Amino acid sequence: MASDELFSERRLPKTLDLTGRRALVTGGSRGIGRAIALALASRGASVAVSYAQNGDAARGVCAEIEALGGRAFATGFDVGDAAQVEDALKRVVEALGGLDILVNNAGVSIDALLMRVQEDDWDRLERTNLRGALLCSRAAARVLLKAKARGRIVNISSVVGERGNAGQAMYAATKAGLIGMTKSLAREFAPRGVTVNVVSPGYIETDMTSEALKDAARASLLQQIPLARVGTPDEIAEAVAFLASDAAAYITGHVLRVNGGLHI
Ligand code: NDP
Repeated sequence: MASDELFSERRLPKTLDLTGRRALVTGGSRGIGRAIALALASRGASVAVSYAQNGDAARGVCAEIEALGGRAFATGFDVGDAAQVEDALKRVVEALGGLDILVNNAGVSIDALLMRVQEDDWDRLERTNLRGALLCSRAAARVLLKAKARGRIVNISSVVGERGNAGQAMYAATKAGLIGMTKSLAREFAPRGVTVNVVSPGYIETDMTSEALKDAARASLLQQIPLARVGTPDEIAEAVAFLASDAAAYITGHVLRVNGGLHI
């Protein structure tokens, strides 16, 4: 769906409306994170769009949101660096006047069969995909708990974390770890009404999958997907926006699969 269509369809049921909510989307500069930032903003949320390197892309997403009547700002930091995360969260909370929704979407993928696994690659994957989500959740915890029943964490895992994939032991471990972290935080935050959930995408067309979804590999993948196509970033964003809304207030510790039936 084009972003202007998203913004023009504002006749939302009240429980899906995010007007007045404040959100941080890590890795919002591209791909799935960009779509999530747009989807939350289209429902009325103010959005901090984070990036690691691509400041121009993040500012471009903010400009798109603002051109369509939303409120957004870009913030650059490395999710794996505790000091940067703490600083960034302070800036975000100050700029937005609080925080209700944290989407831990920033991630990297490095593939290798076990015999070729490099420790540096493992460190980088773990640092961004797992430690990053932990550090951002920790830095946001106090303010999210203040948001009480409006407080939400949505973590972006992967079908690979649920079912494994040859050549992706490192990536799968980080994404499976995120599910365990989510379930624990769901229990930890539930007494304050804050929910913590996972969206687990299948294969989605983004920069991350541009190699994996080429020609023969794509054809063989499509044969394994019951809905016989790859997904779009907007399809992941819709699931995140739902979990961020009041409509999902009684859902916590859940893994919402958006994978075309690839893993059921
Ligand atoms: P992209 O590679 O398109 O985008 C990755 C995003 O993460 C970018 O915004 C990037 O910022 C940001 N990022 C990377 N490292 C860091 C870091 N250290 N600190 C802060 N931000 C960082 O990925 P996708 O959109 O495809 O993936 C988004 C999430 O969805 C990831 O967690 C991924 O594992 C998961 N996922 C993706 C699937 C897919 O098929 N695409 C399937 C299943 C899960 P910058 O632009 O500045 O580099």
